Amino acid sequence: MPNLKEAAALLARATDVTLLGHVRPDADALGSALALGRALRLRGAEVRVSVGEPEEMPETLRSLDVGGLYVPASELPESEGLLVALDTPTPGRLGKLAPRVDAVRAAGRDVLVIDHHASNVFYGTHHVVDDTAEATAVLVFALLEELGTEIDEPIARCLYAGLVTDTSGFRRARPSTHQMAAKLLEAGVDPDKVVREIVDDHPFAWLPMLSDVLVGARLEPDEARGFGLAHAVVTLDAARSVRAEEVEAVVDVVRSVREAGVAVVLKEAAPIGPRRRWTVSLRSAGGVDVSAAAGELGGGGHRQAAGCTAEGTADEVLGKIREALSRAPLL
Ligand code: 5GP
Ligand code: MN
Repeated sequence: MPNLKEAAALLARATDVTLLGHVRPDADALGSALALGRALRLRGAEVRVSVGEPEEMPETLRSLDVGGLYVPASELPESEGLLVALDTPTPGRLGKLAPRVDAVRAAGRDVLVIDHHASNVFYGTHHVVDDTAEATAVLVFALLEELGTEIDEPIARCLYAGLVTDTSGFRRARPSTHQMAAKLLEAGVDPDKVVREIVDDHPFAWLPMLSDVLVGARLEPDEARGFGLAHAVVTLDAARSVRAEEVEAVVDVVRSVREAGVAVVLKEAAPIGPRRRWTVSLRSAGGVDVSAAAGELGGGGHRQAAGCTAEGTADEVLGKIREALSRAPLL
C-alpha cells in the first residue's frame, strides 16, 4: 500500500497525538481512532481522541475506550503534536474541529489522514487513503502491523467493531477481510459480545418507536432507476423516547425490503432555524451508487451506504432524493 511505511515512521516518532473521527461517529471512525490511539499510548505517546459532535461518546461505543482516551470536543486542548484524522473524507466532516487541520498545518506540523472514502480530498500532509479498503480499521490494522505493534484485546476489539459494522456483518468481505478478523479473534475478541453491544442492544422502547415509524414507510417500485425505493421518516417526536442509536438502526430494517434496491431514512435533527432539518441515510443493495445521490445533496459516503443533511419538509427532501437517485450511476 502506498505511503504506509512513511505514515508508520511518522507515527513511530510522534510523542503527542490527537486523533479525530467524523461527526456523529460510527464504530469504524471511533474504533479506528481508539485502536491507533491505544497503540500509540502503549508506546509512550500522549494521546487523545475526539469528534466534533456530539460532546459525549455514543453509549454503544463507550466500551471500546478501555484507556479513557476520549475527550469531549469542548475540552480538547490545543496540542503541539501530530493530528490524525480517521474515516473522514473532508475537513468539513470534522464539524467544529475542522479548523484544527489548518491550524496544525499553519504551525508547520503534520496532519495524517487515514480513510477509505473514494471522495477523500487529501487535506493532510500525509495520507493513507485506499477506497478499496472495506473499513478505515483495515488501514489502521495495516499501519499497526507495519509498526510491529502487538495487538492486545482492546485494540483488536476496536478494530473488529469497525470491520464488522462497515462490512455490514461481513456481507462485503474478501478473503483478506476474514484473515484480518481471524487475527483479531486470536487476540481475544469475543465477536458475539462486541456485536451485541454495538449493534444489537436496544431498549424495549425501540419497538414501539419502530412501529410508529414503519407504519408510515412507503415502497415506490419504479424509483431509484427501477430498482425500487423504500423510505421511512423518523420525526423528533417519534424519536423522543429513544437514543440516537435506535434512530440510526431504523435503516437496517428498511434496507432489508426485497422489493427495494435503495432504502432511505429521514431523521429529523434538532431545529436551528425555522425550517425542518434532516440527516438522511441512504443504502443500496448493489444496483445504484447512493454516494452519488448523497453527493448531489451536499453529502457523501460509499456506493452502498451514504448520507447527507437537508432542510425542508419531509416531502420536499424526499422529492430531491428521488430526483438525485434517478440520475445515480448504476453499479
Ligand atoms: P450513515 O447513514 O450511517 O449516517 O452514513 C453512511 C455513510 O455515509 C458513512 O460512510 C458516512 O460517513 C457517510 N455520510 C453520512 N452523512 C454524511 C454527510 O452528511 N456528508 C458526507 N460527506 N458523508 C456522510
Ligand atoms: Mn468507515
